[in-house]
Amino acid sequence: MTVTFAEKLERIPHYEPGTSLDDAKARAETPDAIKLASNESPFPPHPAVIDAIARAAEGINRYPDPDARALRRAIADHHETEPGRIAVSNGSCEILLAAALALCEQGDEILFAWPSFSIYPYLAPLCGAREIRVPLGDGYVHDLEGMLEEVTAATQLLIVCNPNNPTGTHIPAERIDSFVESVPARTTIILDEAYIEYQINDDPDTTLDLLAKHPNLVLLRTFSKCHGLAGLRVGYALCSPQFRAAVDAVRQPFSVNALAQAAATEAIRHQDDVADRVEKNVIERVHVEERLRELGFDTAESQANFSWLDLGDLDEEEVVESLAKAGVAVRPGTPLGGPGHLRVTYGTRPENERFLEALDALT
Ligand SMILES: *Cc1c(COP(=O)(O)O)cnc(C)c1O
Repeated sequence: MTVTFAEKLERIPHYEPGTSLDDAKARAETPDAIKLASNESPFPPHPAVIDAIARAAEGINRYPDPDARALRRAIADHHETEPGRIAVSNGSCEILLAAALALCEQGDEILFAWPSFSIYPYLAPLCGAREIRVPLGDGYVHDLEGMLEEVTAATQLLIVCNPNNPTGTHIPAERIDSFVESVPARTTIILDEAYIEYQINDDPDTTLDLLAKHPNLVLLRTFSKCHGLAGLRVGYALCSPQFRAAVDAVRQPFSVNALAQAAATEAIRHQDDVADRVEKNVIERVHVEERLRELGFDTAESQANFSWLDLGDLDEEEVVESLAKAGVAVRPGTPLGGPGHLRVTYGTRPENERFLEALDALT
């Protein structure tokens, strides 16, 4: 006799670590390998954030504030809303998993676009729901009309990733507004805005105005990307108090640790630093996208901190392998739902040059 595990485990996608195998491969090849595989910020946190972590470290014999009051207050102040509308989490992925558990039963449906964020396919198998994937439309952009057509009485959760990972494409807030209007009020809509700071079409807080009108809307944000705190795991949702209570009911207390709370509370005070990171990213985006086109690659129109490129005749596996040999870790498209493509995160200028040179050598 041996132990057996839940049947649903068979349906959960095989785990592809975020700090991907390709990264390990690249490191094995060259000690100075660069990581352009996980959409992290190439810049360390603000020095004041590191100080805040050091100060908080002295008190970690105590449990953190289970309600993360200081952090939720700081986030609420920043977005000019109420702390009651802020749910914080151990990375924003925790909110996605908790939302699936809190919203869905057997037979319910979870609707999202594809290719989109690699965590979404975990949700339905975890909670026994059925997943409906709607292919991206022209230009790798969400097909919102197509998604609306798939909404049924069973659709408990609908996710729109904007800008979309892995394609970087952005839907303007005006389109999001009319889309949210069209979705029935019984369906929870999660707008995953992990990269919203990086886009320059709209003020990143435009979508906040929709929250007041639509209690079924959840905006998902993270400190992992442009705030540079991926290693600490802090995310948050701007949501109704009911949604916050629901996700709290299905996850452990104290999910955001003391160092993470202190760091994020400090990080959100430094909006000048965020603006600086965003500006640097825009400069790299323009540069990398232009060079990629010069090299003959078609790319999706990125409004994020990464490019999604069509490899054309090149073999995806060989390209990833060769880049790894040159010490550049990127993400192959196949596990992300886009065979024949590559996702590359923007690093510093020298890092981006190294990627472009290594890619150029293959064409
Ligand atoms: C990186 C990312 C997140 C953030 O995940 P965390 O758990 O907050 O680190 C959320 N959504 C998308 C689409 C992402 O790419």
